[in-house]
Amino acid sequence: MNKWVYSFGAGKSEGNANLKNLLGGKGANLAEMNSIGIPVPPGFTITTEVCNFFYSNNENYPKELNGQLKLALENIEKITNMKFGDTSSPLLLSVRSGARASMPGMMDTVLNLGLNDITVEGLARESGDYRFAYDSYRRFIQMYGNVVLEIDSSAFEELIECEKEIENIKLDTEVSAESWEKITKQFKELVKIKTGKDFPQNPIEQLWGSVGAVFSSWMNQRAITYRKLNDIPESWGTAVNVQAMVFGNMGDDCCTGVAFTRNPSTGANNYYGEYLVNAQGEDVVAGIRTPQNLTIKEKREQNSDSLCMEESIPIIYKELVGIFVKLESHYQDMQDIEFTVQKNKLWILQTRSGKRTTTAAVRIAVEMKNEELISKELAVSRIDPLGLDQLLHPTLDPKANKIILSRGLPASPGAASGKVVFNSEDAVEMSKNGEDIILVRMETSPEDIHGMYAAKGILTSRGGMTSHAAVVARGMGRPCVAGAGEILIDHVGNKFTVSNQIIKSGDLITIDGSLGEVILGEVPTILPELSKDFSKLMKWADEIRDLNIRANAETTNDVKTALEFGAEGIGLCRTEHMFFDSERILTVREMIYSDTEIDRRKALEKIAPMQKKDFAEIFELMKNLPVTIRLLDPPLHEFLPREEEELYELARNLDKDITVIRSRSIQLEEQNPMLGHRGCRLGITFPEIYEMQVRSIFESALEVSKKIKINIKPEIMIPLIISDKEFLFFKKLVENIAGKILEEYGEMPQYLLGTMVELPRAALNAENIALHADFFSFGTNDLTQTTLGISRDDCAKFLPDYLENKIIENDPFISIDIDGVGVLVSSAIKAGVKANKTLKLGICGEHGGDPKSIEFFHNVGLQYVSCSPYRVPIARLAAAQAKINNS
Ligand code: PEP
Ligand code: MG
Repeated sequence: MNKWVYSFGAGKSEGNANLKNLLGGKGANLAEMNSIGIPVPPGFTITTEVCNFFYSNNENYPKELNGQLKLALENIEKITNMKFGDTSSPLLLSVRSGARASMPGMMDTVLNLGLNDITVEGLARESGDYRFAYDSYRRFIQMYGNVVLEIDSSAFEELIECEKEIENIKLDTEVSAESWEKITKQFKELVKIKTGKDFPQNPIEQLWGSVGAVFSSWMNQRAITYRKLNDIPESWGTAVNVQAMVFGNMGDDCCTGVAFTRNPSTGANNYYGEYLVNAQGEDVVAGIRTPQNLTIKEKREQNSDSLCMEESIPIIYKELVGIFVKLESHYQDMQDIEFTVQKNKLWILQTRSGKRTTTAAVRIAVEMKNEELISKELAVSRIDPLGLDQLLHPTLDPKANKIILSRGLPASPGAASGKVVFNSEDAVEMSKNGEDIILVRMETSPEDIHGMYAAKGILTSRGGMTSHAAVVARGMGRPCVAGAGEILIDHVGNKFTVSNQIIKSGDLITIDGSLGEVILGEVPTILPELSKDFSKLMKWADEIRDLNIRANAETTNDVKTALEFGAEGIGLCRTEHMFFDSERILTVREMIYSDTEIDRRKALEKIAPMQKKDFAEIFELMKNLPVTIRLLDPPLHEFLPREEEELYELARNLDKDITVIRSRSIQLEEQNPMLGHRGCRLGITFPEIYEMQVRSIFESALEVSKKIKINIKPEIMIPLIISDKEFLFFKKLVENIAGKILEEYGEMPQYLLGTMVELPRAALNAENIALHADFFSFGTNDLTQTTLGISRDDCAKFLPDYLENKIIENDPFISIDIDGVGVLVSSAIKAGVKANKTLKLGICGEHGGDPKSIEFFHNVGLQYVSCSPYRVPIARLAAAQAKINNS
């Protein structure tokens, strides 16, 4: 028989942490915690397989589920010595979602389940707290009404606000028992009006209703969006966790909180968290009341004067700390923990690996390795390579003048400037138009996920460091200032007011998520300094990886950045890029527009010294590291003048009539420039261009070798080759120039001559080409374009639809198309090496900086990847992870 339900409680669990796929993260960890002696309210998990069954069987359940659920419920009753639906001492339940990957706040939760008109009286008598009982009942109706019966929660909130107005009070905590009872009645009437039915009184019906609603929430819009943003497959499904309720809102000896075992923003090894006295479940995360600190240290750092947990309930705090230590060493990772204290008894409701900024991730990984809690390999595996981008984020220039409007909590580090918007839809729309946006909200909710993603930064006026805004922003790598309480937001008027200043929608502000500052206007930024921990982690990655990492760079700035980030060579110097600046492009156009070889040579004479200087600068910077220079590969359309003014300027320079220039432009115009007169085809028609480039490479190599006393051995690369005959044409050309150099200078630098493999034909003829080439560098941008027949410049029009409909899994221009382009790459490698044992192999397409593709390149036996300078650290780390994952 299939097992659909897994029980846990009183130290015995049917599941464990290894069953994450089946029980979801929350369920697996509840089972695990229960087995290792952590106090967890007893409960059971309905598996993710039930979720999949539910969706593939028209929202029905497997037939054995009912019986298994009953048995599991009896187990809770036995452990708690309470009965579900009992009139004197009713067992109440919580029902929560829990997918394999954590999806904070994306799916639904129902608390206080089991209350009805009779059991509420039992709860009142048993707890001796009438107010608490009715507060719990109204919360239940509100949650159930919203989650299961799909009534808008604002309808319930309005009734509460109305009663508060009548009673002339402001806070929920001031609402009396009688008022809660009255509100409860009104809630039930509301349910009747909205659904045409009475609020369900049967606890078992309530339970099934809630379980169904949690499964259904797997397909709600915000969960779908979150999955898309985080690459979580729909097929994983969610589990449902049902547990005995524990109450943090039964009086002042109760509380509820969230804690991290290390600081999730900075990674510092300090406990870090927040709690609320006399509050229930979601109050902390929702950010509606600003919570108190956990520790004295935090309280001091944040200049708070409310009592922290360490001061107010030191014995329970100590017990909690004991659990932090136990959980962290058990899971060997920083934990994000939810706890509740009911009448001075501590319960743990959840533990999971805490989301953290990359700065924190790096520090935690390095420190845990130093504490001998984890291995070097595990430390390196812990960091998401793409997340390293966050570390390279700019920070505000400390020398810049700042007009600080307000301060809030430094909820997610980094700085961002942008136009203020007050709702997520506007944020998405405006960012589509290329505008930088700061999303300003009272508090964010899971509905804002797409707006937060579209924004450069997030500012909230309410909520703490573990509020939705803070947690999600940190996970997304967006800077966030939370709980900036002085800011008065007027969502209707689309403005906020702070210290007599009005900031309207569209006004520019800057937020500094590391300091919690909200600043007027735009503030200049600078690049951050990389930490010692970062260097240490990178050093470990370097010790592990097999792949070498080079950079694609042609300017001295890029080359310097690449070196700073640890590049071990230049894998692609695109010589055409050296001519994009305004002065040089004119000379290149002169060359392109020349009618005769003589004119072309004249233009080339002007270009040669610039080339020599560029190459010399790069060689000098790179010293004995390899530098691959690619001969000119301009898709001509990129160089043609577009503006009238540019045409006239060219006519003046060439001393030609504008009509001649125009007609030459028409002549040069191509239907399909990417497959046109580009790459080495240019060198076939105009060999003098390549001759000039090869000569410049050799001459500058000789010069620099003398100057720095290191033998420079340039690597010359021919683009867009399709056959061995074509390659041999250039081999002869290069050897010819080499011979002349030897004659003229009496010496010749050693060099390698290789080719890009970026057309399918080259890959298919790799064996023949490799006989004559020293190296192959896979140009996976063009190889993708030509293998798929999808233009790299025009794909944005239709590729998103392919991705949306899952016809293509990943954008093939970002992540290598393993089944198509990948097959060509691996067969070309095999054929190439067969013909030439010493053939050097690398890749210089954009995929060289993509972690998924890097794993593929590691596996097919490339020697290096080359990527843009800012991607070098990402590639170093991804290469190490590829080795770890595949050895
Ligand atoms: C390539 O095609 O992968 C490549 C690196 O060349 P480019 O992007 O310059 O065409
Ligand atoms: Mg190319």
